[in-house]
Amino acid sequence: MIDLHLHTRRCRHASGSLWEYVSSALDAGLAEVAFSDHLPLLHSDDHDYAMPMEELPQYVADVQEAAESAAQSGRVTVLLGIEADHARGREDETRRLLASYDFDVVLGSVHFIESWAFDDPRLKDGYDTWGVRDLYETYFSHVVDAARSGLFDVMAHLDLVKKFDVRLPEEPVGLYEGVAAELAGAGVAVEVNTAGWRKPCAEAYPSEALLRACRRAHVPATLGSDAHEPGHVGYRFEDARALLARCGYQEIVTFRRREPRRMEL
Ligand code: ZN
Ligand code: FE
Ligand code: FE
Ligand code: ZN
Repeated sequence: MIDLHLHTRRCRHASGSLWEYVSSALDAGLAEVAFSDHLPLLHSDDHDYAMPMEELPQYVADVQEAAESAAQSGRVTVLLGIEADHARGREDETRRLLASYDFDVVLGSVHFIESWAFDDPRLKDGYDTWGVRDLYETYFSHVVDAARSGLFDVMAHLDLVKKFDVRLPEEPVGLYEGVAAELAGAGVAVEVNTAGWRKPCAEAYPSEALLRACRRAHVPATLGSDAHEPGHVGYRFEDARALLARCGYQEIVTFRRREPRRMEL
């Protein structure tokens, strides 16, 4: 199995070194992992969320070094990934930054609605000012913009807006169909992100209804734990596999230099 979504202590809100994550990946018997620390934010100076810009070259060098020694051991493949926020109006800057390095995979994320970091537990009060339908529509409009930007290979935690279990009375299947069609049209994969099982929403991102919509639209799927500590590597992957299979997926994709590669589920 593959885990394309690992953070390290470099992002300031995760613990563990690269080596500890690689060693967890070996323990979990994974074939392949990608580090995907948060790209420095272009629209905010807050360093609780991402590494500062001056550290990006060292991050890349460290992952490449880990990838080389892992390749020598022949036991696990380590890929150079990054998780990048979609910052509206900053697309060109983001594109230039991403093009400066040979990333294997770029995960696209929406962690902000305007300046509100809606998945930050310290900012949960923000939900009080929204109607849930309006919140979901606004969030997913950002996701669609992100997919259309062409900046990303994968959309990470596709329905992160449900993190604190703020839900509509029924799954908005019509909205999901539209989102899935946009991902398919943009050639962006969906990530099954098992971190949701560690959060109040208590299910993977995306929900089964959203993943089914992705499958119907022929959106390729990939897999990540969004590990923020070494023990999270490969977290609940058997459940993720079962979810993917239930939704009709028979294969998943990994990436090399931003080109998808299919593999059996
Ligand atoms: Zn993080
Ligand atoms: Fe994220
Ligand atoms: Fe992440
Ligand atoms: Zn994430």
